[in-house]
Amino acid sequence: MNGIDPYKPGESVYECVSCSRQIRTDGHLSSCEECGGEVRNIAVPRE
Ligand SMILES: [Zn+2]
Repeated sequence: MNGIDPYKPGESVYECVSCSRQIRTDGHLSSCEECGGEVRNIAVPRE
């Protein structure tokens, strides 16, 4: 029994600190795909 886990394993959500774009990826992301800015890993947003 794992209970309820809203986090999808293997999927990360990053937010660009420059343009605030949120990017989902199943891997590692080091820069914004839109503007090339710095990104930070954030919690998975509610859907
Ligand atoms: Zn950006």
